Formats: sequence, structure tokens, C-alpha cells
Amino acid sequence: DTLVVAVDGPSGSGKSSTARGVAERLGLDYLDTGAMYRAVTWALLEAGVHVDDADAVAAAAKQVVLEIGSDPSDPTIRANGADVSGPIRGPHVTAAVSAVAAVPAVREQLVAEQRAIIAGSRGIVVEGRDIASVVAPDAAVKVYLVADAEARASRRTAELGGGDVSATRADLERRDSIDSSRTASPLRRADGAQIVDTTELSLEDVIDQIVRLAKE
Ligand code: C5P
Repeated sequence: DTLVVAVDGPSGSGKSSTARGVAERLGLDYLDTGAMYRAVTWALLEAGVHVDDADAVAAAAKQVVLEIGSDPSDPTIRANGADVSGPIRGPHVTAAVSAVAAVPAVREQLVAEQRAIIAGSRGIVVEGRDIASVVAPDAAVKVYLVADAEARASRRTAELGGGDVSATRADLERRDSIDSSRTASPLRRADGAQIVDTTELSLEDVIDQIVRLAKE
């Protein structure tokens, strides 16, 4: 069986750096499912779709073609042929992505793509919100990362190259509340997922813990 490591958790819990580090250490592929929701959102904004119109979002999302790199040392994503790896981290996409991700038809489409990528991998670390609960419930390793809101906000602000921590914190909390209260696959710890609180841990410590779980 191919090894699947599922890494879920709220925004800013350290999922991306952790998941990439684990994939590099174990020589596995890497999939950032949040980047897929972001890339679809980018394409919809480009097309002028109103993201609060769920029917329009569902219809337009079907037309979006994603190409996803699986190398943890160089994660790239293209939408309709354009490299959107940078633009999907911008404020417009970040503000709109949770509304797009709440549309059930978008989730069905992306979950199907994610399962195909996992099936075609040589073993993979997959990060997101619903990996252990929906996308890959049979994953051998399931981790749910958590961290204090303040720690998450300062990390995310640093990743963005600086800025106002309290504004970042408000944005993270707003997205977490949409992500946790939506009907379709809300953010929550899956049965069997091991909670890792990263507030006081270094990135290397978190990676070590997960690598150890994967080797058990
Ligand atoms: O992980 P990241 O912050 O890039 O994810 C962006 C958004 O995509 C999340 O706030 C959430 O709304 C959505 N998402 C999701 N399910 C996933 C991954 C991301 O709903 N598996």
C-alpha cells in the first residue's frame, strides 16, 4: 500500500511547512489541497464570478483546469495554464477562498482530483482541512495540528513578509469560523487523528514527531 500521511488543521497551524518537511524527510510526494481551493478561487475572481453566488461558483469551477506539482521542495500550481503559485497567497484570494470552499459541488470536484493524485502517487503527504475525514480516511498516519491564535497569526504574518499581526489574526479567525461552521466537510479533528499542538514546538520537532508516527 502507498503510504498516505494526512495533515489537517486550522489556518496558520504550520501545516504547509510541516507537511513539506515530512515529505522531504520520507521521500514522498506532497499535495497542498488549500492551494487547489485557492487556485480555483483565483480563476473565478479572474472571470468576474461573484463568489457569494454558489450556483455560479459551482458552474464556473467545472471549467477550471488545475495542474499541480508534487515536489515538496518546489510546490507549484497552475490554473488554466497560468502559474498562480504567488497570486493565490494574495489578499483577494484569501478573502474569498472560504466562500468558494463551502460550495459542495466545488468540494466534490476537488476531492475527486485529490483522490486521483493520491492514487497516482508513490506515497504522499496531503495537507488540508478534511484529508483524514473525507479525502483519505484510510490514511496510515493522521495528524491534526493546532496552535494558539496568536502564534498562528504571528507565523502567518512572518510568512507574508510582515504586516499587522492583529489584522492577520482577525482574518485567520474569520476563515476558521467559516471553515468550521460550513455544512460540507467542516474543519474538525477526524477520528483517530493525533493532535499535535505546535505553539511551543519548533518546526523540526513537529516534523520529527510525524516522521516517527509514520515509521511506527
Ligand atoms: O490551507 P489554506 O489556508 O491555504 O486553505 C485556504 C482555504 O481553503 C481554507 O481557509 C479553507 O476554506 C479551504 N480548504 C478547505 N479544505 C481543504 C483545504 C483548504 O476547505 N482541504
